[in-house]
Amino acid sequence: MKRMYPTAFVSLLLVFVSMVGVEASRASQPKISEEFSGEKALAHVQRLVDFGPRPPGSEAIEKSRGYIENQLSLSGWQVTRQAFTDDTPRGKVRFVNLIARFRAQGSGASSFLLCSHYDTKTFDSFRFVGANDGGSSTGLLLELSRVLGRHPDLAAKIELAFFDGEEAYEHFSEKDGLYGSRYFARKLGSGGAKQFRGGILFDMVGDRSLTITLPPDSPAEMARDIFASAEALKLRSDFTYLGRELIDDHTPLNAIGIPTIDVIDFDFAWWHTADDTMDKINAESLQIVGSVAAYYLSEFALK
Ligand SMILES: [Zn+2]
Repeated sequence: MKRMYPTAFVSLLLVFVSMVGVEASRASQPKISEEFSGEKALAHVQRLVDFGPRPPGSEAIEKSRGYIENQLSLSGWQVTRQAFTDDTPRGKVRFVNLIARFRAQGSGASSFLLCSHYDTKTFDSFRFVGANDGGSSTGLLLELSRVLGRHPDLAAKIELAFFDGEEAYEHFSEKDGLYGSRYFARKLGSGGAKQFRGGILFDMVGDRSLTITLPPDSPAEMARDIFASAEALKLRSDFTYLGRELIDDHTPLNAIGIPTIDVIDFDFAWWHTADDTMDKINAESLQIVGSVAAYYLSEFALK
């Protein structure tokens, strides 16, 4: 019996030492929300904008695809092209979605979607480079995928989707606009949708005077957790609700049963004008959205 005391003491000591070890390693590991770099996201947007207008089927959007694929593979993602042809008001157009999963994922199903559209709207009368609309969310998602790539346990639960053909040639309808997300949703079907517990769509997230305006049809629990994430990072005042409904790439995803929230700043004075250029966006705004998204993923969505 006497020998029990030192043994118990040593065990206790070991437990204590290992707990201190866990605490120390936790403290030394940077928080994922602090790893996101608005500057790096902005540099991606600059590269995309440098390709010029990037409408579906153009040489410039093919260059964008090459750039996105290259950046994703550098941070450990495997990209597949989901190509298809659809009828548009301008005849048949070939579109390509880029879908990425993390290398360590194996055959296990991913459970959360992160999306952006990377096409720019077709305008005949002026040069439209879509720094904010098409550019900002794609740059943000590339930087977020780099950060997630450093956390394979989180990345393994994620699927990335870069949608082509978000923009309508004329007006959003069953047959115009959301080409990429409609096709993605159709291929997945409501059966395939079950593997995803949710998704975030990023769109127009770089406005230098940022206020994220969540559409009123946002899944309530997700909106609540996004607001809570913003609150935790002392960024709550940059997030609010939009005063009206909004059709975007989240619409077809919600329709097949993937609760998807559109993280968008729809209050953008240069929307669909020649002035949607680099000087209207900045790294700080990308940093705000990126860090809140990273916090939301690690503390809520993927817990
Ligand atoms: Zn647009």
